[in-house]
Amino acid sequence: MFESSPFYQSALGQLLSVIPHTSLEPGVVERLRVPKRIITVSVPVRMDSGDTRMFMGIRVQHSLTAGPGKGGLRFAPTVDTGEVVALAMLMSWKCALLGLPFSGAKGGINCDPSAMSIGEQERLTRRFTAEILPFIGPTVDVMAPDMGTNEQTMAWIFDTYSIVTGSNCAQIVTGKPLETYGTLGRRAATGMGVVYTIEEAARRINLKLNGATAVVQGFGNVGSVTCEQLALRGVTVKGVADVSGHYFRDKGFDVKALMEYLKSNRTLAGFPGIDADKVSVDDFFTQPVDIVVPAAMEHQVTGKIARNLKCRLVAEAANGPCTTDADMVLREAHKDIFLIPDILCNAGGVVVSYFEWVQGIQMFFWSAEEVDNKLQQMIRRAFILTHGHATARGVDMRTGALALAVEKVGKEKAKRGLFP
Ligand code: NAD
Repeated sequence: MFESSPFYQSALGQLLSVIPHTSLEPGVVERLRVPKRIITVSVPVRMDSGDTRMFMGIRVQHSLTAGPGKGGLRFAPTVDTGEVVALAMLMSWKCALLGLPFSGAKGGINCDPSAMSIGEQERLTRRFTAEILPFIGPTVDVMAPDMGTNEQTMAWIFDTYSIVTGSNCAQIVTGKPLETYGTLGRRAATGMGVVYTIEEAARRINLKLNGATAVVQGFGNVGSVTCEQLALRGVTVKGVADVSGHYFRDKGFDVKALMEYLKSNRTLAGFPGIDADKVSVDDFFTQPVDIVVPAAMEHQVTGKIARNLKCRLVAEAANGPCTTDADMVLREAHKDIFLIPDILCNAGGVVVSYFEWVQGIQMFFWSAEEVDNKLQQMIRRAFILTHGHATARGVDMRTGALALAVEKVGKEKAKRGLFP
């Protein structure tokens, strides 16, 4: 049933479109099209009201060839199997492109965390962990935060897994708080990675960041750090957005003030003067700015929006933010726009997750500087590799990135062979 999901179809379409750019045998391609495992569990939760509610939890392991599954766990009302399968597939390519010893996985629970108390979220997380326990493990599948989940969620999973298995297992999840074997630099890692790839791209199109302008959709973990880091580099952030709406202010936003406001408010709504800045999604993305960063969720940039973009650079901080239509427009009609594809742009999070996993195995922890230096090395190297490959083959950045990644995963499968 996941096959009918538009998000899965666009992920599959991307995979199939790059096969001619690889040397993979048809049998290997067959194995890459579908996930290895889809685990669906019913999660009963005692709500604060005393009622019991059932939630649907999903974990998908797209592949287990390159190492343990790795991928986030999201809590959102939009979660369905097709979405999780597509995201797990993207994780396979992301891990491969970055050269990490992980395979792609993803998970989600269909729920609305904003309408749940902390206690309800904790019971949901712990019971979900118990339900999928036979299918996860530090060498099997390692979860991390994603939309609607955070460090606290990971601490609950770590604690539940350790209690049930009877052994302290720090490397069962990444994105944990520092107090429970987290790593320095994980919280900001994805946004930092986004900005490092923007720096690399800007250099190649002769765009000076100091004095440039941007709009960033999403002001959560990824979007807020991206805004903060862009502002630090002299970029005027003219557009910000969250679930409460899309806002455009020609003179730019004070990003620090927005971050301060969100410490005591759930959304951007109500920030002084912001109501007057409200615009439609289409108007938000199509303002004349240098950099457009979708950092909220999938399929936000439609074909219509893509055709009307006036920017020089699109940085896909979210996973799958462009529809298939938009992708086509960017590849064919808007070759003038430099696209940083999601599997490269937002890979900073999984890179630092990898560092956290390594530190957890060794029980030997690194300084913030060490984490950032290694992150920069890996992400800039992946950018250079992708750009070089795309330029040499005369293809766009997404095709270049996917071709490299798919070839790597496919070759690993081919070398390991087909059992029995
Ligand atoms: P988050 O939950 O911290 O933040 C999401 C933000 O998007 C919030 O500000 C929310 O209000 C906003 N948003 C949600 N729906 C929206 C809509 N329809 N219009 C405008 N804004 C909307 O999530 P996050 O961790 O920042 O993840 C954002 C994206 O980045 C997701 O696609 C996620 O898969 C991807 N990603 C996250 C990480 C990570 O480390 N957190 C790593 C790689 C990729």
